[in-house]
Amino acid sequence: MKTPFQSAPSGALAGALLSAALLSGSCASVKPNQLGATAPTQVEVRDFGRTSDGRTAHAYVLRNSAGVEAVLTDFGATLVALRVPDRNGVLADVVLGFDDVAGYEGKDNQYFGCTAGRVANRIAGGKFSLDGRVHQLATNNAPNHLHGGDKGFGQKLWTTELARDEARVHFSYASPSGEEGYPGLVLASVVYSLTEGNELVLEYSAVTDAATPVNLTHHSYFNLAGAGSPTVLDHVLQVNATRTTPTDETLIPTGELASVAGTPLDFRAPTRVGDRVAELDATAAIGYDHNYAVRDAALVSDLATVLGSGPVAVLSDPASGRVLELYSDQPGLQFYCGNFLFAQRGKGGAMYPHRSGCCLETQGFPNAVNQPSFPNTVLRPGETYRQLTVHRFLVD
Ligand code: BGC
Repeated sequence: MKTPFQSAPSGALAGALLSAALLSGSCASVKPNQLGATAPTQVEVRDFGRTSDGRTAHAYVLRNSAGVEAVLTDFGATLVALRVPDRNGVLADVVLGFDDVAGYEGKDNQYFGCTAGRVANRIAGGKFSLDGRVHQLATNNAPNHLHGGDKGFGQKLWTTELARDEARVHFSYASPSGEEGYPGLVLASVVYSLTEGNELVLEYSAVTDAATPVNLTHHSYFNLAGAGSPTVLDHVLQVNATRTTPTDETLIPTGELASVAGTPLDFRAPTRVGDRVAELDATAAIGYDHNYAVRDAALVSDLATVLGSGPVAVLSDPASGRVLELYSDQPGLQFYCGNFLFAQRGKGGAMYPHRSGCCLETQGFPNAVNQPSFPNTVLRPGETYRQLTVHRFLVD
């Protein structure tokens, strides 16, 4: 199956040309009349500490007039904090993270809030063959490759551009050919915008000068009761998907699609996350860590199409009334419920115990590069990878 990668103008090859193409607005721009208008504000820039190789990381604060605040860092194009109101208007930070870049570079960071890539999720044996050549990647999640390898996109310092008078940050990263074993120079960008409608919009794009798999995702751990609250098992989740991609013991999909009916993976009706999780404790996933086949192929990355197709997932916290509606053009949704969190210390000394955050990762299917029946994740020269994902916060 093919995803509808859109064709870039021919002749766009490596280097400056590609960069110019990416930065000059090949990114689908959000139309204010389809969402809340992007919040009119100055982006506040803060120091976020030094990377281990001595570079300065920054934090960028986006605010809207309701007081909602999204804090991003150029390290990993990462969402550091997201303050949204409960039903009484009380703000809480609903994503797990760290206070400075050292935390994000440290061993306790499990991809918190980052942009995972070049290929998010797993590639079997870290190996794939493309156009007759075999490529071996790091097997950093033995025996497989996970989230781009030893130092994937989430561990790189991205280049930042700020929009004037708008709550919007544009991050871009040039991933050289051979990085982490992947072929081709890839120029990737992600734009985060905060709207007056309490929506955090993520627009991704990427181009390449040689065929390569590309699969980007956003890896925030949400806890709508506030990051540091002990569990998300009382959250209620709805996932608008009827099928998942069953896996082997190492979480590599077998290639089948299986119905969720009659299993703990059935979230077609809103269901408490903790109700059936124990049934998965003794499985390879050790809880929720599953890819939902939301659709057979990616949608066109157009806001009206994506919003019009309805939410892929809705997560809510009945106690606070906070609700997250997630919209995306992607074929897959990895629901991962923090099975490997181990009470590490995060922002302000908060503790993040087992299952105290859950990720809703919009993406292509895991190991798609080795599974021809899955929606295509190979990007070729002349094409543009796109993804549009909207996080809309409401209360009930
Ligand atoms: C994966 C998990 C993995 C986690 C690491 C998730 O996206 O699905 O299997 O352990 O990332 O943070």
